[in-house]
Order: sequence, then C-alpha cells, then structure tokens
Amino acid sequence: MRGFCELIDAIFDVVFPPICLSCETIVGENEKTLSLCTSCRSRLKTTSGFFCPACGRRLPAPHVPCHGGVQFVLAAPFFFEDPVIRKIIHLLKYSHIKRAAAPLAFFIVSYLQSITSIKDAGYDDFVMIPTPLHSSRERRRGFNQSLLIAQEMEKFSKILDGEHRLPNFRIEAGVLARVRKTAPQIKQSSRAARAENVRGCFAIRDASKIAGRNIFLVDDVFTSGATMGELARLLKTNGAKKIIAIVAAKA
Ligand SMILES: [Zn+2]
Ligand SMILES: [Zn+2]
Repeated sequence: MRGFCELIDAIFDVVFPPICLSCETIVGENEKTLSLCTSCRSRLKTTSGFFCPACGRRLPAPHVPCHGGVQFVLAAPFFFEDPVIRKIIHLLKYSHIKRAAAPLAFFIVSYLQSITSIKDAGYDDFVMIPTPLHSSRERRRGFNQSLLIAQEMEKFSKILDGEHRLPNFRIEAGVLARVRKTAPQIKQSSRAARAENVRGCFAIRDASKIAGRNIFLVDDVFTSGATMGELARLLKTNGAKKIIAIVAAKA
C-alpha cells in the first residue's frame, strides 16, 4: 500500500509539480515542505525579539511593554512590507491556498526558538488561541487562516530543534467566538474608531480554559492592534496571565 501511495505521489508531482509560493518556479525535493525555493527563502529578513504593540518598539528582555495600559506583547518574525511574506499571506487569505500556512508557521516557530527565552521568564505552559473569524466569513473562506497557522505551528514545534526550547503549547480552538460582524478596520479613520469598531465583537465560550493560563494569541498580520487589544482585554478580564500575540508579520 505504501509503495502504491508513493507511486501516486510521484505521478501527482509530475503532473502538478510543486511550485514556489513566491516566484512560482518548480521547487526541489528539500524545498517542498515550505513550498518556497531557496532563492526566495534567502531573501527573507527575520526580526528578533518581541515588540511593544502600542509603539512598535523592540522590547528588551524581560519583555515588558514600554507603554502603560498595554496588556500583551507582540511577537512577529517579519515586517509586512517584505514582498515574499506579503504574497504568501495574500495567497492564504484571499486565494485560499492552504499550503501557504506552512511556511508562515515554520518561520514563527524558528523565530520563537531564537528568542532568549520565553521559558526563562518562567512561562512554561501556553494555551494557543487562534483569532476567531465571524462564522459567515469562515464559511465563505472555507477555513480560519489563524487556526491553520496554529495547527502548523504545533506540527513544526515538535520537529524543529532551535537554539532555545519552546514552552509547551497546544491549541484551544472554540474558547473564543466572534459574535458580531465588523466593518473593515482599514475603513476606520482613527485609532479610536478602530478600537470602537471591534469593541464587544468577541465573546468567551469557555472561561475555564483561560483563567490562570498563559496565552499565545495567533493571527496572520498585526496592523493597528485594535483587534488584538480587544481580545487581550477580554482574556485579561477572564483571568488570563501572560499574553503573547503571535503573528507572521507586523505592519
Ligand atoms: Zn521562489
Ligand atoms: Zn511602546
């Protein structure tokens, strides 16, 4: 049976050879997992360390936001202006190419493993919560891209060996729900309008999974921070401890 499956895979690869998500050239055997060719991958520039979600400044350890009133720190391996990463995120969100989640998750996990050290700060155990979509949007897209990234992160965290060992984390989907549809954040004219637009749009479905826990809040992109801010506020109100917002790219 195994031989048969390998044969089918081989035929499939000849008919539909795997191509690089970024430049669309055919990728080699060792580039297939991430669907990214070596040349595009070598052009990527990863960030280091965590960021203050209010001002975007890089935070020195032990990662306390430089702005008061901010309830989480931001982890992002890339800037959204990076053309390769921007294209991969667009393919995932707007062209619904699910395999685009793998490279994003891979680079997030590698980046987290390069940071000294989340574990040393005494945070050993995290619950990973993907940012929920409104059910109508999820139906239209067919999936929640944040959940897909989180699932791939879980996979890579088990097989990647980095400089620093990661804390334990596992997905808790369904803890949060998006209960109200919101107008696009991009159409809001100010920071206050963006915060107002998302206020009350999420609800907790299972507070017992949050109280006293450290949280990895997963999304694809961080822009104004209004959505993450609203989620962090809700999670804190329900007893969450440390919150780290994890995205593939920050604006
Ligand atoms: Zn390429
Ligand atoms: Zn700041």
